Amino acid sequence: MEKNIPYKTYLEENEMPKQWYNVRADMKNKPAPLLNPGTHKPMTAEELSAVFCDELVAQELDNDNAYIDIPQEILDFYKMYRPSPLVRAYCLEKMLDTPAKIYYKFEGNNTSGSHKLNSAIAQAYYAKKQGLKGVTTETGAGQWGTALSMACAYLGLDCKVFMVKVSYEQKPFRREVMRTYGASVTPSPSETTEVGKKILREHPGTTGSLGCAISEAVEVATHTDGYRYVLGSVLNQVLLHQSIIGLESKAAFDKLGVKPDIIIGCAGGGSNLGGLISPFMGQKLRGEADYRFIAVEPASCPSLTRGKYAYDFCDTGMVCPLAKMYTLGSGFIPSANHAGGLRYHGMSSILSQLYDDKLMEAVSVEQTKVFEAAQQFARIEGILPAPESSHAIRVAIDEAMKCKETGEEKTILFGLTGTGYFDMVAYQKFNDGEMSDYIPTDEDLAKGFAGLPKID
Ligand SMILES: *Cc1c(COP(=O)(O)O)cnc(C)c1O
Repeated sequence: MEKNIPYKTYLEENEMPKQWYNVRADMKNKPAPLLNPGTHKPMTAEELSAVFCDELVAQELDNDNAYIDIPQEILDFYKMYRPSPLVRAYCLEKMLDTPAKIYYKFEGNNTSGSHKLNSAIAQAYYAKKQGLKGVTTETGAGQWGTALSMACAYLGLDCKVFMVKVSYEQKPFRREVMRTYGASVTPSPSETTEVGKKILREHPGTTGSLGCAISEAVEVATHTDGYRYVLGSVLNQVLLHQSIIGLESKAAFDKLGVKPDIIIGCAGGGSNLGGLISPFMGQKLRGEADYRFIAVEPASCPSLTRGKYAYDFCDTGMVCPLAKMYTLGSGFIPSANHAGGLRYHGMSSILSQLYDDKLMEAVSVEQTKVFEAAQQFARIEGILPAPESSHAIRVAIDEAMKCKETGEEKTILFGLTGTGYFDMVAYQKFNDGEMSDYIPTDEDLAKGFAGLPKID
């Protein structure tokens, strides 16, 4: 054990970041703008403000300001569960017998169990500041809905959550956490919205998807006075708020006098990865330092590694703006044996552009390999990781094993986005040897691509 590097590095209160970092300011090729689904023209602030809070619209469209002040109220809320620790995984290194130095930034130390609270509190704060009554959203596995419920409870806002039906039924405890924080939770698709009724007519018996739930949440927000819609990933504003993860990591590394070589994160819609890499990517874009960035996605939902870079619908009901992103098509639904999260069909426009510009790499991994890594990690580092986070663990271990072969002493940082207490059905499958892998065929993917809108 190196004497000078502690197991855990925390920042002091006065060392905490007071501004978010907006990586778009340093990108030469900016992420493509959201388009109006009717006219195919870039969405104006006015059009977006029917759906989102005004301040969040400004952040969504801001490609220029590198630093944005974090309001004092949000800083105060962050203090309840931040800074999160930067952990040196000495035990994992020893078990792997690798010369690599492995660090992880742990975001699971709050009741929502993930990094999502970082953006939930920001979005709820701006809704409150605008004098709104409440917000609507969708949730899949439930982490985002939980985080938003917590933020809304704290600020006294109403919170309406559309939860993908299969999760609503399979994760009753998640649902009850949200209700404990005062949210109303509706299984989606539902009969409570026009788009939900339409989807149910066309697909009777469907167990829902994130894309359906988004359509329902947007419909309610735009048809109810004093409500706006909020989203937990994918959007530029969410990556901005999540930059707190990377800024804290960078400040902690600077304090230790350490520079990571490889930075790894799991990628669903891209918010934790985007937030984790942002300040480091900024350095790379400005030519100040170099890093390898690796996005890890499930082989069963491979938007970066096998998707197309194109404008696509963000939701099933096609009510949202179009986003240019690496996508599998809005009709794509991962096969039924896919256990974890990371099931969204598209990827953040910022990360899509960085990947297209070859500033970031991407790999996909099979879920049985992911759960093997999760089990190894849980047994030696103690934390029970979320299946999503375990994608990053898998590739961190793989990179550390490459270092063992070559003898290189690389420094690896990965994002440990959350804990897996609500994912025990998936762990049970793995423990019983009943977990399988399904990699979509090219024909499976072609069906999703066929649904891409034609944009000239
Ligand atoms: C939501 C979630 C993710 C994936 O979302 P991103 O926006 O890609 O970060 C990863 N890990 C956990 C624990 C999550 O809750």
